[in-house]
Amino acid sequence: MKYPAVANYLNGSFVADDLPALDVYNPSEGSVISRVPLSTHREVDRAVESARAAFPGWSGTPIKERVQVFYRYKALLERHLDELAALVTEENGKIASEARAEVLKSAELTEFACSLPQIVPGEVLEVSRGVECRIERYPLGVVAAITPFNFPNMVPNWSIPNALALGNCLVLKPSELVPLSAGRIAELLAEAGLPEGVLQIVNGGKEAVEGICDHPGIEAISFVGSTKVAKVVYRRGTATLKRVLALGGAKNHLIVMPDADLEMTAGNVVASMSGCAGQRCMAASVMVAVSKTDHIIRCMVEHARRMVPGKDIGPVISAESKARIESYIAEAEAAGAEVLVDGRNTTVPGRGGGYYLGPTIIDRVTPEMRIAREEVFGPVLVIIRSRDLDEALAVENASPYGNAASVFTESGGTARYVMERASAGMVGVNVGVPVPREPFSFGGWNESKFGVGDITGRGSIEFWTKSKKMTTKWNREAGVNWMS
Ligand code: NAD
Repeated sequence: MKYPAVANYLNGSFVADDLPALDVYNPSEGSVISRVPLSTHREVDRAVESARAAFPGWSGTPIKERVQVFYRYKALLERHLDELAALVTEENGKIASEARAEVLKSAELTEFACSLPQIVPGEVLEVSRGVECRIERYPLGVVAAITPFNFPNMVPNWSIPNALALGNCLVLKPSELVPLSAGRIAELLAEAGLPEGVLQIVNGGKEAVEGICDHPGIEAISFVGSTKVAKVVYRRGTATLKRVLALGGAKNHLIVMPDADLEMTAGNVVASMSGCAGQRCMAASVMVAVSKTDHIIRCMVEHARRMVPGKDIGPVISAESKARIESYIAEAEAAGAEVLVDGRNTTVPGRGGGYYLGPTIIDRVTPEMRIAREEVFGPVLVIIRSRDLDEALAVENASPYGNAASVFTESGGTARYVMERASAGMVGVNVGVPVPREPFSFGGWNESKFGVGDITGRGSIEFWTKSKKMTTKWNREAGVNWMS
């Protein structure tokens, strides 16, 4: 095997346990590259124990000292950019430019964590004569992050730098489909000077997640993954009175108006649906084409047909995922939809075992079709035609999800109308992937997010800390009032 078996990372060391294990695949070739252990609640117990032992020392270190680790970590992410990106490509399949962008995003997330000392100083006010109120933030203790397969480097870094810089110790449970990047993250953090025990990695699947949800020594969980599992984690974690922020799946709508800029819109829509092989929770999934937009659709078809699988678009994560996506396409076609660009039967020379699908654009889809309602998570865009903007918004609003929505138009009034009415936590104008960048926070609405707060940026500070309100009186002449 190309890589040694993955090991859990406990108290600063990789620990080889005698646990049942799963194969880890390279999706570009369909080859087995490693094995990942399936941890149980016992490994979670050990991780929590060493994280608890590290907590007093780490939380007692002033924040300005804690963030020094992250300045060094950011420099290491940049120094090892090529190697880290290659590891992402190896286990997730995304093409080199996408993998590099992912690691650079991790560096940007870390940059935000470095700025936390400038953002979190407490507040202080004289609230009545001689009496002062102040607010200070405290870490929660041992916290956990559970992450999905689609961003093996970035999504762990949505939680690690902020949660740790704010003084918590963290147990990471990476996706069992892509466990290699997490191990490198731990090594680089150790090299950057992170004390032993502050970060633990417990590999595995359902049982490890359940162990985390049930553990009484874990104070908070951030989860990123499908809505089905987000609901399980939210219910199970809050049942043991933890703070839980669970980000789920998505079905993002792009509303395209007839006045939209032709080239920019066609290019952006196709990039949004096909980037990372459509395996992004911010990817375009439904285009609602308002009125006369045939010229834009024709241009999109040209863009999609020019894409070369293996070079411009990577594989999807697994053979099962590919089969599932193909079945959505077949079902829509059988129900009368028109497949304008068909990514099925795609092969890449020399990579016959890879799970490739080309970009697929399907027109004349109706809102009740399964492909229009459910998350497909592949390079597939469906087009729903609408007569006017309100009809288009009604289609968007009917989705149970609410991560992203965008409108493509040259009219400021139309843009504002959509921004106010789209039922999504992140909206864009002429932007295919409206990801808010730091210091703005990432987080959707509806069934795309359960819990309060956001996972990145300023919104994460509230999630990873608890505030203490302090009222003091040192001025003896203050007199006696109801606060005395
Ligand atoms: P997933 O829900 O299958 O897995 C996510 C995590 O949950 C993994 O660590 C996995 O081991 C664990 N898990 C899986 N099944 C479980 C179960 N039955 N019980 C307990 N734990 C379980 O998600 P995925 O396929 O790895 O990732 C793709 C999904 O993630 C998509 O739905 C995508 O939209 C979503 N996603 C959302 C965001 C967001 O910000 N909202 C970001 C990235 C990905």
